[in-house]
Amino acid sequence: MNYGLYINGKWVKSTSDETFESVNPATEKSIGNFAAGNELDAKKAVDAAEEAFEKWSSTPAPKRGEILLRAAQLLKENKERLARLETIEMGKILEEARGDVQEAIDITEYMAGEGRRLFGNTTPSELPNKFCMTVRRPIGVVGVITPWNFPIAIPAWKMAPALVCGNTVVFKPASDTPLCAIEYVKILEKAGVPKGVINMVTGSGETVGSAIVKNKKIRALSFTGSRDTGDWITKNAGIKKISLEMGGKDGIIVMDDADLKLAIDGVIWAAFATSGQRCTAASRVIVHSSIKEKFVHELVIRTNRLRLGSGLKSTTDMGPLINEAAVRKSETYTQVGRNQGARMLCGGVRLPGRGFFFKPTIFENVTIDMKISQEEIFGPVLSIIEFNKIDEAINIMNSIEYGLSSSIYTKNIDMAFRAIEKIDAGITYINSSSIGAEVHLPFGGVKQTGHSREGGITGIDEFSEIKTVYVDYSGKLQKAQIDNRK
Ligand code: NAD
Repeated sequence: MNYGLYINGKWVKSTSDETFESVNPATEKSIGNFAAGNELDAKKAVDAAEEAFEKWSSTPAPKRGEILLRAAQLLKENKERLARLETIEMGKILEEARGDVQEAIDITEYMAGEGRRLFGNTTPSELPNKFCMTVRRPIGVVGVITPWNFPIAIPAWKMAPALVCGNTVVFKPASDTPLCAIEYVKILEKAGVPKGVINMVTGSGETVGSAIVKNKKIRALSFTGSRDTGDWITKNAGIKKISLEMGGKDGIIVMDDADLKLAIDGVIWAAFATSGQRCTAASRVIVHSSIKEKFVHELVIRTNRLRLGSGLKSTTDMGPLINEAAVRKSETYTQVGRNQGARMLCGGVRLPGRGFFFKPTIFENVTIDMKISQEEIFGPVLSIIEFNKIDEAINIMNSIEYGLSSSIYTKNIDMAFRAIEKIDAGITYINSSSIGAEVHLPFGGVKQTGHSREGGITGIDEFSEIKTVYVDYSGKLQKAQIDNRK
């Protein structure tokens, strides 16, 4: 099956007529051929989005919200079909794929409601007979560049707020999951998003992605992906509003008073769900030395019970990695971990035969200078690091260049608040896994993870501009900072 680009309301071939394949990571079988767009296709998409902007931005926001509500309804009706498709294209187990689609439903519904809010502020003036307020305006054409690990939810996290705010969109999905992206765009199309308002160009990051990044008609970019790509975007985008959601090296602290079963449930979910391919996956457990032995013993038993296989089977706990390169990366880091003196307790190998399966892997005797405790592996490889005092645990937590998610298991409220105050991360969970974002709260990180806060009301801030308005009805020239001192 061949799939095209979506430009100005039409499904079209790429100008070059070249294609690329997407494969099922569990079987390595082809899913279809997708148009490999190029710079010219990206330009056409941006021009179409620019052309559509005037009409879309003048459409009343509640009307834009109604279209999103229809899209949410269509996502609900298609939830099971989309989830299966996502498992086939991306590999995550069906239950998690359903969660991904549900996240898209939730954010689309939330943002539909924003059509009747999009609040500004009012505030008093320092001068009499003068009124002050802020109003929101759309930014213009927005470039949306997404990764493959949440192939429906992440595009929805970005496009729903972008659309309700009145922007038009040029969307460049990841090349490992183009079919999920196409299905999402088809839902928006069916819901009634007018032609030109969303445009999608599949193809490589180096050609299509960089053409979007550098295009001067694009006024804002919303990017989720790796730190290196985000770094490149920052250096090449020129003057644009940029939202960056990048890598993580998230940690979970387990204190000596923690409920061990609860902590182990949380660590297994954080380290091995989506085969460790979540930006909020925990790849470090920072565990108190007095309980370390018991904790590790139980954790390894539970990990060895995880069943690898096709995500479509209800008996599978962990699906494949996304592609061959991802398996090699996990293999390489496993070797590096051993070379640097960490002790491997389980896993460390790929499964023989077809598919990109890598066994869940745990290392102990890990120190903070080791590469496996510093670099994002984006696979099922977990490091155990010991500590004795809470300050030491927090130093370990903060010893990395990223700062996305974090968690602490403790019954001591003082320790919990110390963690909330001192951990350098965008998200801290107390007695819960490092995974679990809800769409109506801000999501994002600090340090090398980036600085945006998509989701919730702060998502609206990312996709709108604030205009400050002063209405002076005094009938005379009033000078701020001067006249109120007389
Ligand atoms: P990636 O950076 O390789 O690719 C992301 C997107 O950028 C893809 O669509 C890709 O084609 C495009 N791209 C690549 N080069 C480009 C360029 N020069 N210009 C413009 N676009 C370009 O990342 P990935 O491997 O798809 O995703 C995994 C990464 O994403 C991990 O680091 C993970 O932590 C991160 N991630 C972060 C979050 C978050 O919210 N912080 C969420 C999910 C994933």
